[in-house]
Amino acid sequence: MPDLALKTESTPASPLAAEVARRRTFAIISHPDAGKTTLTEKLLLFGGAINLAGQVKAKGERRNTRSDWMKIERDRGISVVTSVMTFEFDGRVFNLLDTPGHEDFSEDTYRTLTAVDSAVMVIDAAKGIEARTRKLFEVCRLRDIPIVTFINKMDRESRDTFDLLDEIEKTLALDTTPMTWPVGRGRDFLGTYDIATGGIRLLDGGGAKTGAAERIDIADLATRNANLNVDEIREELALATEACKPFELEAFREGHLTPVYFGSALRNFGVGDLLEGLGKFAPPPRAQESNLRKVEADEPRMTAFVFKIQANMDPNHRDRIAFARLCSGKLTRGMKAKLVRTGKPMPLSSPQFFFAQDRAIADEAFAGDVVGIPNHGTLRIGDTLTEGEDVTFVGVPSFAPEIVRRVRLTDAMKAKKLKEALQQMSEEGVVQVFRPRDGAPALVGVVGMLQLDVLKARLDAEYSLPVDFEVCEFQLARWISSDDRKKLDVFIAANGSGVADDVDGDPVFLAKNEFYLGYTRERAEGIVFSSVKDVK
Ligand code: GDP
Repeated sequence: MPDLALKTESTPASPLAAEVARRRTFAIISHPDAGKTTLTEKLLLFGGAINLAGQVKAKGERRNTRSDWMKIERDRGISVVTSVMTFEFDGRVFNLLDTPGHEDFSEDTYRTLTAVDSAVMVIDAAKGIEARTRKLFEVCRLRDIPIVTFINKMDRESRDTFDLLDEIEKTLALDTTPMTWPVGRGRDFLGTYDIATGGIRLLDGGGAKTGAAERIDIADLATRNANLNVDEIREELALATEACKPFELEAFREGHLTPVYFGSALRNFGVGDLLEGLGKFAPPPRAQESNLRKVEADEPRMTAFVFKIQANMDPNHRDRIAFARLCSGKLTRGMKAKLVRTGKPMPLSSPQFFFAQDRAIADEAFAGDVVGIPNHGTLRIGDTLTEGEDVTFVGVPSFAPEIVRRVRLTDAMKAKKLKEALQQMSEEGVVQVFRPRDGAPALVGVVGMLQLDVLKARLDAEYSLPVDFEVCEFQLARWISSDDRKKLDVFIAANGSGVADDVDGDPVFLAKNEFYLGYTRERAEGIVFSSVKDVK
């Protein structure tokens, strides 16, 4: 196969363009247990970012330095990693953004996907497409994020290969091009056949890392495993080569087609192929939409947006880290950026890079990179940083909560403190806070239950505020807006106790249930009810 990447990566025009062109910023999407953590470890090993597999999900001692609210995640057996892991491989810089892997969905997961240029979809070969994979895939599709597929756990009993590909095509409406093809399955899994070169890479044949597949004659397979029916395999490989669509870079980049790799993360098999594919095909940092114009990645002036905030990552520092994705230009340590929301300068004196569990001061970073910016609450999710230009990136969303609760304070004297704490937690994106216009106590909204546990633990640990959550009369929240300011005012006046302000002061309609929401919506002519809000 010709090196498709060469066609698209013409010689960069400047040193900045060269740095940008070699970056790949991606996330892994999968259903819990499909092997995301194992694959992450192996990817990091390739890049030499860590030298001890197992660090990513390290339990026990290593984790004792973590803050209390992370303890909840730990107790629930959730893999908590830093939000971004950077490693180099084959001349490219890979930024792997972690999507939290717990049972509950959180908004962080969605928002992280606004900061990547591509995604690896990990599928358990015995299970195929599972619910979470599908949900995350839909988020990727909304943003036309190209997907590379890794079918994992080939060393175990797996489903028929054609069947798996068919399922991807049908349930996700996504074309597939297998780049490799499994030879034998389950206990008799021998390795993969490289469709482009016709070589076979053996599971136990060394060379598992990278490089050309060993060329083994199919007839020789029988000598390696007597259980294999060589004629059947020959037929299957011929059929696979013939029947599958050729890989088309453009269709992949547009999100219509996924290249598929087979392997076993546990056995570190096929991971090199995947990484090579990602380097070759996945797009370098894409242009980003702002309120004024499209910002190209290789523009010289630095721009970035904050997609995630994490507090108290290191209890010794009690800091908040804002994770910012660079959209253009180069960030240099010590530079003064402008925080567009407030118009104020924001010195970037100690931006940080993350390598598995370590962090280091970043002296420079380029479009596509993610840096952690320590701050004491100045930065919020959705904030844009620039070198002076007043552009604001769009598309870092808030999602209508699926669970709404009223916060009950056990000590009524602390109401003011609670108000402050909730304000901070909502700015950080831990939960959404809605303040009813009629003055009733604040409500919190979350997308997943875990967010409530985290809120409770953090209010207790950081603010000494023991709270409980009460089911309240409202179950749903929708942002409301109208082209006609008057109409909105009339609606708000008529629905007094069912309208609240969010953290930015934007109005939200609270409904008891779907029926009531539908009923109100039908009668509210000229009012738009929205379940997603672009953070401005
Ligand atoms: P995550 O929940 O997606 O992060 O999944 P993990 O990486 O924690 O893997 C879930 C389980 O599957 C663990 O017990 C892994 O050891 C196992 N596992 C992961 N990859 C493979 C694989 O390629 N083959 C086999 N047999 N087991 C695997």
